[in-house]
Amino acid sequence: MGIYLDHAATTYTDERVLEAMLPYFKDVFGNASSAHGYGQEAERGVGIARQQVADAIGAKRDEVYFTSGGTESDNWAIKGAAEAAKKGHIVTSAVEHHAVLDTCKYLETRGFDVTYLPADGSGLISADSVAGAIRDDTVLVSIMFANNEVGTLMPIREIGQIARARGVLFHTDAVQAIGHVPIDVDALGIDMLSLSAHKFYGPKGAGALYIRHGTGIAKFMHGGAQEKDMRASTLNTPGIVGLGAAIELAAAEREQNNAHEAVLAKRLRDGLLALPMTKLNGHETSRLPGNVNITFRGIEGEALMIHLDLEGIAVSTGSACTSGSTSPSYVLLAMGLSTVDARAAIRFTVGRGNTAQDIDTVIEKTKNVAERLREISPLFAQYKGDKKYV
Ligand code: PLP
Repeated sequence: MGIYLDHAATTYTDERVLEAMLPYFKDVFGNASSAHGYGQEAERGVGIARQQVADAIGAKRDEVYFTSGGTESDNWAIKGAAEAAKKGHIVTSAVEHHAVLDTCKYLETRGFDVTYLPADGSGLISADSVAGAIRDDTVLVSIMFANNEVGTLMPIREIGQIARARGVLFHTDAVQAIGHVPIDVDALGIDMLSLSAHKFYGPKGAGALYIRHGTGIAKFMHGGAQEKDMRASTLNTPGIVGLGAAIELAAAEREQNNAHEAVLAKRLRDGLLALPMTKLNGHETSRLPGNVNITFRGIEGEALMIHLDLEGIAVSTGSACTSGSTSPSYVLLAMGLSTVDARAAIRFTVGRGNTAQDIDTVIEKTKNVAERLREISPLFAQYKGDKKYV
């Protein structure tokens, strides 16, 4: 196999997580809502997973609702809060994932007013800008915990305090942060939090939404009475059990995984920034430990990504949901990068299975591919000799 450096897109399922899930496909196959023994046994697994999620974020067990992933959790939090409020204003940011942005855009067509706060050059949304945007009719603030493209960590505690003081609900998309950042929803003033198992070595198609007791939110899926009659559909018991096991492991092993990723990411970052005409995107220090996002001036990121893929190295040009489109990353543009610099960016995301040897190979191969691409790049010919780019 090649070298996988796209852990922000998704991760493999940890062997221990898979082990925990396996019985729920066959032996413990009951419907967790059924009253008989088969159902009760499945429900026990779900109950344990609910507690595991609650423990990982400092929540109460009955404040955790299982969903199909980050996208559903974001949709539910935002549309659910909007529907409960009936009308009003929402504050979010221009660098959110599409699951938040497109939901907000949809709500604009339903009469809601939305403010998309700009990020600064490092991808940061300041707490002051959130405070300045809140109006008397603001019903929700939704700001992500960590950005999926550049890894920048947002000032969640400050934003939580501001939202609380102004009596506004605060939702955070913590899909990229879980497993990397210690999270306590009470200490951080979070009312709703989205998470997704496949980002922290759990299965795909399993997520959760934390909803603080007393939060005004409409139900999302209509049908059966599952999840306290708030989210219908037969529970995905293997996925839920896997989510629970994965989040418990992620919390228990967080420091050691972060330290491993940080060492490798630094090695990668230093090695790549030593190449000519490169620049780091995102915050210098306040970022996810495994994220290295670099602009290689004079190169099309897409071309670099494809050439690295041919060498067996998996990286990305933006979020997985938008790659395949030829437009430059809206996140990088919102941070003030020029279109050419945004097009020249590559996201490398290190994971716990990577080794120093992987990183050295990636630096070497990237150097070779970048040199080859620059030799044939008319864009690079323009940059050459321009001191401001060296
Ligand atoms: N939010 C963020 C920040 C993400 O990075 C992602 C996945 O890329 C999502 C939401 C969507 O999560 P899911 O793939 O579980 O629907």
